[in-house]
Order: sequence, then C-alpha cells, then structure tokens
Amino acid sequence: MTGPPPIQYVKGVGPRLAERFAARGIRTPQDALYLFPKGYQDRRRAVPIRELRAGMTVPVRGKVLSVNEGGRFFRGRSRMLEVVLADGSGRIVAKWFRYQPSLAKHFKVGEEATLCGAIRMFRFMPEMHHPEILSSEETDDAVHSGRIVPIYPDIEGIPPKTLRKIQWEIVRNHADKEVECFPAWILDQAGVPPLGRSLAAIHFPDGDADAEKLLEFSSPQQKRLVFGELFSIQWALARRRAGIEREAAIPLPWDKEIVQEIKSRLPFELTGAQRRVVNEILKDIGRPHPMHRLLQGDVGSGKTIVAWIAAMVAWRHGVQVAVMAPTEILAEQHYHRFAALAEGLPVKVDLLSAALSTKEREAARERIRAGETHIAVGTHALIQESVEFKNLALGVIDEQHRFGVLQRTSLMKKAKISPHLLVMTATPIPRTLAIALYGDLDVSVIDEMPKGRIPIRTRVMYESGRGKVFEEIRKEIDRGGRVYIVLPLIEESEKLALRDAARTADKIREIFPDIDVGLLHGRMKPQEKDAVMGAFKEGSLKILVSTTVVEVGVDVPEATIIVIEHAERFGLSQLHQLRGRVGRGTRPSYCFLMVGGAQGEEAAARLAVMEQTTDGFKIAEEDLRIRGPGDFAGVRQSGIPDLVFSDLVRDAGMLQTAKEIVEELRQKDSELENPEHEGIRRFVERKTVLWKD
Ligand code: ADP
Ligand code: MG
Repeated sequence: MTGPPPIQYVKGVGPRLAERFAARGIRTPQDALYLFPKGYQDRRRAVPIRELRAGMTVPVRGKVLSVNEGGRFFRGRSRMLEVVLADGSGRIVAKWFRYQPSLAKHFKVGEEATLCGAIRMFRFMPEMHHPEILSSEETDDAVHSGRIVPIYPDIEGIPPKTLRKIQWEIVRNHADKEVECFPAWILDQAGVPPLGRSLAAIHFPDGDADAEKLLEFSSPQQKRLVFGELFSIQWALARRRAGIEREAAIPLPWDKEIVQEIKSRLPFELTGAQRRVVNEILKDIGRPHPMHRLLQGDVGSGKTIVAWIAAMVAWRHGVQVAVMAPTEILAEQHYHRFAALAEGLPVKVDLLSAALSTKEREAARERIRAGETHIAVGTHALIQESVEFKNLALGVIDEQHRFGVLQRTSLMKKAKISPHLLVMTATPIPRTLAIALYGDLDVSVIDEMPKGRIPIRTRVMYESGRGKVFEEIRKEIDRGGRVYIVLPLIEESEKLALRDAARTADKIREIFPDIDVGLLHGRMKPQEKDAVMGAFKEGSLKILVSTTVVEVGVDVPEATIIVIEHAERFGLSQLHQLRGRVGRGTRPSYCFLMVGGAQGEEAAARLAVMEQTTDGFKIAEEDLRIRGPGDFAGVRQSGIPDLVFSDLVRDAGMLQTAKEIVEELRQKDSELENPEHEGIRRFVERKTVLWKD
C-alpha cells in the first residue's frame, strides 16, 4: 500500500526540513494543510511613512537614500547595517544588527525598496529592526508581499519565510485535493465555501479579503472549519439523544387527583414558573421513554420542590427515586427537607451518607435493595457498585455542574429499565453553552423567584472598607441575622487554604469576642460539618467562616450577610452561587466582595457586574464573555473536547446553524447510510470521541 507522499518531496523541503516537520507531527503535505497561520499581516499596500505609528507591522516603500555598514551606533564587534528610505512623506531607518554581508547588496542608493516590519519610534523617527525585504529579485512576490500574508507558528529549524514558501507550494498543489464531505445544500445553509477552497484562502487569503475578520477567525473560509467542528459535536449529541429516545422506560403517568393531593400538602403556593416546569416534567415521565431533562433555575428559585413533586408521582406508582447531591451537606439538607415534606405519609426517605456507621449504611443499602426505601438521597455514594435498587425509575441529580456525564450514566445504570432523569443546576448556563453542552437534554427553566424575595445588595469593598463591613456585621447580628465569611479554596494548596480559614476565624473571634464563630471546611468529617452547619442553622453560631463548601444549595434563611474574601479569585458565576446563600429570608441581605492586592482595580471593574445585577443569566453571559467557556462550570466535566477552531461566544450563530442542519440531516438520513453522506459519516466518526462512557 502506498501512503500519502511524504512532505520531503515538496519543492523546497528535502530530507533535512522534512525531519523538522516530522518533529511537529507533520509528515505529509495533507498534514501541513492543517498547520494554520497563527496570524496575518496585511501587506497589500505600502503605507506612507508619515502615517506610520509605533506598533504597526506594515510594508513601507521608498527610495534608498543611504546604505551604511558599521552604522553610526557601531558598538563592540557586532556589525550594523543601516538603510534610510524616503517616500516623499518622510524618512524611515531600517536597522540590522548582526547580518550576512550579502544583505547590503539588496540596496542601491537611488533605487526603490520595500521593507516590512514592526514600526518603532526613535527620536520621532520611525524605525524598523530586521524587517523583511519584500522587493528584491530573490523573494517571491506572490508569496511574501502585495497580499495578506500568513504568519505561521514557529517550527524549529525552518525560517519563517522558508516555511511560508513551502506552505504556498503545498496549498497550490494539494488544497483542492481535500474532499469536501458536506453536500452543497449544507454548505449553502451554513454560508461557507467548500473545504479545499477554504483551506487555500485560510493560508493565502484572497486579495480582497477582510483582514480584520481573518484575525478574528471569522472569514467565510475560516467559518467552514468552525462549522465542521460544531457540526460534529452537534451530531454526536443528536445521536446520543436519539439513543435515549429509543430506550424504554417505566411510564409514570399522573392525573389531576394525584397532583392536587401533592399540591395541597406543599408549604407554599408554587410560582408560575414552577408550575410550568412541573407540567413539563410530569408530561415527560408519563411517557414510556426516559426523560432526560435539565432543570435550570437561579439560586433560590425553588428547584427542590419541583423534584419533590416528580418524586411523589413516582412514589404513587410504587417505584423508587434516587436523589443525588454533590456534597454531604447538601445531601443531608435534601434528606431533611424531603423527610419533612413526607411527614404524615407512608413515604420512606433514606439517606446514604458517609456519616453513617458501616452497620447503618449496610442497613440502608438493604432497605434500598428490598424496595422499602422509596426515596434514596445521597452523594455519589449512591452510584457505588454496592448500591442496588429494586425498581429505580426516577433519578434526580442536583447541581449537575458538579457532576460529569459519567455520573449521569452510572446513575442510569442502577436501574434495570432506563430511569427518567432530572438534572438540576443553579448555574445558569448561557444559551449557546447549553446547546453545546446539553444538546442531548431537554431544558426547563425556572425564571421567576418566589414572591417576597428582596434583591441582595452587593458592594465591592477594598481593605480600607473592612471596618465598615464589621460594623454592618455587628448590626445584622444584633437584629438576629447570621453571617457567612467565605474564603477561596486555593487549589494548589488546600493546606494553606485551611490555615487561612482557621486564621480568619480566629481574627473574627477577636473582633467579635461576644459572638460565637464557627469554622467549616472540606477536610472536616461529615459529622463535624453537620454539627457546625446545624449550629449555624439553629442560631447558636452567628458567624460561619467557611471555604467554598457552602457554595452549593445550602439554605439558611436567617443568613443576611455574606462576605467573600479575595473575591477577585472567583468567577462571576461562582460569586453568584455564593451570594445565593443569603437573601433567602424576608429581610434584606447584603453581599460584600472584598478585593485587595495589586489587581484590585481591574478586579473591581470585573466585579461591578455583581453590583449591577442579580440575574444569574446575565452574570453567566458576562462570565462566558470574560473567561471563555473553558473555565465554565460543567464544561470540563461535560467531556466535550477542547474546541480547536470555534469560540462559543463568537460562533454562537454558527452553533445554532449547525444544530439546525444536524436536525434536518437526521430527518433525511439519520444513520448516514446514503452513499452521498459517506464523507460526513467518516468525518463524524473520526471526530466523535466526545464521551468515554
Ligand atoms: P434552589 O433552586 O436554589 O435549589 P430551593 O429549592 O432551595 O432553591 O428553594 C429556596 C427556598 O425557597 C427554600 O427555602 C424553599 O422552601 C423556598 N421556596 C421554594 N419555592 C417557593 C415558593 N413557590 N414560594 C415560597 N417559597 C418557596
Ligand atoms: Mg438547590
């Protein structure tokens, strides 16, 4: 079998450079087609010298006024070549320190020359150091000048100009051999040119290309690559979803009576949004196919009760429910709430907690196995191998962003027939991200807060304002409030973070000697955590110093102040989560974001969004814009590979388009069996290793 021709045989390469390419994993001309420029320089027009500004990298054309070897600033042994050009609008000096003697031969006084390089200013005169010479016999004008030229990533041992020339050869001879896998209707709908032409224009843009778009990776040809990438992700999600839809599940239909009875036992009226999502969920679980629904609702919007209603419908059908929470604290909170709601009903709620003794845990597992437990609440302990359910039919995963797809799948495997799945998240995910991450889920949104909530007032504070913060704390506690003081967890050193937390607690105790201060951190045993949390809840502790373990879901309505230390170290969405620990009661609440250190001012500007809005979606959008999706809660766990070409903010429109095209194509040929779609099939198969479950 003959493989593709090695890159060695491309004009200008040879065995020595081929080795350099190979060191970068580039063995064939095809490989080199996918070595993309990291930037571009617009060399289409020479810029008049008068218009030059420091920092520009542009071609300059002029008459050679003087050529000086040795130079006026000759120092030591290094030789300097200095060439002065003039174009009628001004003069520019080009300098080469250490140069090949032959270089000077390019310049003859009185002749024209074109140079390209970064402009700097020296005594009000523009200068270029080591510019590229564009207009001499040796250089190939079509490649290096008179066009937008590509700037390639450095490859050791290959000078930039040589690399550009090689790429030019390769693009001219090989780009159009790249077969386009998408049919014309898809390319039309996506508004992108075919692959071969796209590759050619990405390397060597057309004469009339928009340089700015190219630099943003937004030219139509670059969008072809973005489209391909987003298409393959959407295709994978659609397949996954179709797989779910084909599976069988135990239908859990509801009727008015059941729902009326459940509702009559609720401690409050549901909000309109809660009612809407309850309907969506109940409709789903009434079907003989598994529900896979994401319930999004801002912190405090009341997701728990929605899960409870679904759980009660399941209970009526005599099947089991599993409720999984990311932390012990949260699991216990759910357990207590569910147990309270179940009071007076023959509903058995069980907690599978690390706090249980081995014996107790074994007993709980036995009850779950025997089907005595109707609602099993726990952390990921629930998906451990030793846990068996008798007839699990509904799984609820709280704070989904803390879990990955893996846990979702493991929970599903606990049931003999696919269970209905409700995943809940309080991290509002921007729409684009939701499509990219959870395209395999249906989405319900609670976009309304329970009545009577007073928006939390947020202030960014500097160290100088700490005294004021302490005054506020004192006042609130006198009024019966409770206070959280939260410290960031420094990932590199959990130990340091703990020491920080312990020190802070001591300091706070010094400042408020008459007030009971508690300390909560991730290294504590579950029982210890419980004890502290319990004391804070019932009010014997008034101030809780904590690492971010209080981040998710904890509900203490009396807490009215949260102070977040080193707020600049947190993402906005995480701050929003933390802030949601207060404002749960009927009294006004405050959030103080303490910033300090060198980045104080920059941080304050970023954090200003927190002062302006309590809308989690707006904050999430802002977070996505500032930090990009990589850092976004849930992205890493989602199993989506790093995006090479796409940017979920910049390419939001293309993401939507890709999703629509995938849907249309699936209607026509869901398995890509049509020979016309052979290429697409190979393309998505090559690129679909998105999840490892
Ligand atoms: P989250 O969506 O953050 O999980 P929770 O389910 O913990 O929110 O609810 C936050 C608080 O609001 C709880 O104390 C809960 O009892 C209360 N709550 C939920 N729904 C309503 C409602 N419709 N009316 C009044 N209070 C509600
Ligand atoms: Mg919650």
